[in-house]
Amino acid sequence: MKVKQVFSAYNFQERNSLCNRYCSVCGEKCVKKEAGGRERDSCPACGFVHYENPSPAVSVLLVKDEKVLLGKRAHGSFKEGLWCLPCGFIEFDEDFLTAARREVQEETGLISEIESIISVMSNYLTPNLHTVVVVLLAHVIGGELSIAYSKSKSYIMIVRYNLYLKK
Ligand SMILES: [Zn+2]
Repeated sequence: MKVKQVFSAYNFQERNSLCNRYCSVCGEKCVKKEAGGRERDSCPACGFVHYENPSPAVSVLLVKDEKVLLGKRAHGSFKEGLWCLPCGFIEFDEDFLTAARREVQEETGLISEIESIISVMSNYLTPNLHTVVVVLLAHVIGGELSIAYSKSKSYIMIVRYNLYLKK
């Protein structure tokens, strides 16, 4: 059996590689060049190769009293109107468990305790944004649920959380 855990929000097969990149080291315009088995944006001046990798992120299924927490993306946010879990990117100096607890607190006001990993999956969100997401199970151990606002670097994401009764 072939196991593949991928969420795709666009047609990944039609993705065109971005080649208008300028070198982040010296500022020269990059060119396509073979490196590490595929064509990549490479700097003709300093030789720096720009490897493209998905960003690591966390998503948390939060449980309390047989209820799970779902978020609805607010008007004007990325994928507005869709349901989601508390989620976000892992900071460079942060382990993924700390990131998960931080994102939950920032976005909901709740204090959480991580129990286990539910899944790890690839998300092809936009041609410029691919993530690898660790989906975690957590329990509420404190705090108060409140509507909060969450921002990321590339867009403003406003998430409103509502309790969803699952019985
Ligand atoms: Zn360069």
